[in-house]
Amino acid sequence: MHTTRRQLVHVFVLLTLILTPWAVQAKSEHEIYFKGTDYELHVFEIIGDYPGNTLLIIGGMHNEPGGYLSADLYADLSLRQGRLIVVPRANFPAIVSNDRKIHSDMNRKFVNGNGKKHQNHKKEEYEEAVVAILMELMSRSDALLNLHDGSGFFRPKYIDKWRNPLRWGQSIISDTDVHITADGRTLNLKDRIDRVIATVNLHIEEPEHYFFHNNTRTFDDDSPHKEQRGSATYYALTEYGIESYGVETSKSIKSLDLKVEYQSMIINAFMNEYNIVPKNPKVSIQDPHLEYLLVSVNGSFPFGVPDKKTLYVNSGDRIRIEHIAANYERGLLADIKGVGSLNDMNKEFVVRKPSTILVKKDKFEAGKIFVDIRKPDKVLPVMAAGKNTPQGASQATAREGVVQFLVLVNNDSRTIPDGNTLEITPSDILTIQEVIPVEGNPRDLRVNFVGFVGNKAYNDAEDRGYRIHPSKLWKRHSLDKKGGIYRVDARLQDRSVGEIFVRILQPTEAR
Ligand SMILES: [Zn+2]
Repeated sequence: MHTTRRQLVHVFVLLTLILTPWAVQAKSEHEIYFKGTDYELHVFEIIGDYPGNTLLIIGGMHNEPGGYLSADLYADLSLRQGRLIVVPRANFPAIVSNDRKIHSDMNRKFVNGNGKKHQNHKKEEYEEAVVAILMELMSRSDALLNLHDGSGFFRPKYIDKWRNPLRWGQSIISDTDVHITADGRTLNLKDRIDRVIATVNLHIEEPEHYFFHNNTRTFDDDSPHKEQRGSATYYALTEYGIESYGVETSKSIKSLDLKVEYQSMIINAFMNEYNIVPKNPKVSIQDPHLEYLLVSVNGSFPFGVPDKKTLYVNSGDRIRIEHIAANYERGLLADIKGVGSLNDMNKEFVVRKPSTILVKKDKFEAGKIFVDIRKPDKVLPVMAAGKNTPQGASQATAREGVVQFLVLVNNDSRTIPDGNTLEITPSDILTIQEVIPVEGNPRDLRVNFVGFVGNKAYNDAEDRGYRIHPSKLWKRHSLDKKGGIYRVDARLQDRSVGEIFVRILQPTEAR
């Protein structure tokens, strides 16, 4: 009896060992080619739990958003079975400058010889270099979808100027109906397209938007589209013997949503054809981590306190946590230890002793902020306007509804309202963390500490985030030309929207 059970266990263990390599772990990989150049190429490879066909999806060879926005949606998928290789933006410079091509049309560059131009290429040949990578991706795929937006509406028979056999929109393209590969396999492209179109058209309400099969007859001597002999689909078909299709939504359809919906209907139908099975919803459990808390002190405009930093307050100050910025949107709470309840968001608390604010996502810790009480002798005063404002400076007073400068003096976070002066000693280190405008997005501003150059390679007058040492400032750019007081200017385009002043205390006046 015991022996039998043990034998069963052995059989089970053996089976597990045999079967385990079959069920590979579902995962995805993200590779970046030509990193740091304008034509960075991002390749996402999504590997299913179970092996199967590999479908290569290429978007953005041209400036055609139906293609690249649709491909984008598949870069984040996870798969039960099969494999996807997704290149959402093959030609990023063309997309950004909204030109079909930069030096040459990328979809005419798939010719023998360009496969070697991956390395040591000139910038003017980046199209060939990208094509070389795409060729390599084709070589390990079973099928290719090349996503585009085309002009008008392809129709097998001439209807009018915008609906005829030489237009491209709302068609699935193949270079031939049936292709026999070099190793003798028969690829029936037409049958595949007919099934996909039948499925997709069933769900299209507007008959004008129905898809048709567009056979460019690229091999034929009398082909109307001999230029396609340099295309990705033709190369994939002839060089690697893989099924390859162009998918064209119409440039005449103005709604991006609709174009992306049509593209995704076609991609889904092709995935179904190749037994590539998505997981829905995507399963991806990441560890939660806090980026920053937005905290208001004594009713101030809220400012950000990053994870693991200390918020210094005066004993008796009222704090209120207004927002948690983390890698999750839901399930978050902040708990101020020793006060309140489980969740202390959006409630005001008086602080009289040091504490910790624990940020959780469900039962998991996402981060924490420390709250400490300022020692009176460490307080660096924020001077009210007038009292310490240099001549010629604006006379704004500290009040709500003005631009707020969030700064760190050493590790002490401070909020300086527009028009005020911050005093620091020559040994302090100052960081302008953020500037909160009265309305709009802080990222639309430029924040310039006049007399400090943050990015030495390129002075972009953007000084947020740098550790500023008073000894390294340019005295001739100070307001008094002697390095006594400097101006920090927040600009929206050409207009100054806020300023503070930083006084560097000289040893005799330092407390
Ligand atoms: Zn195109």
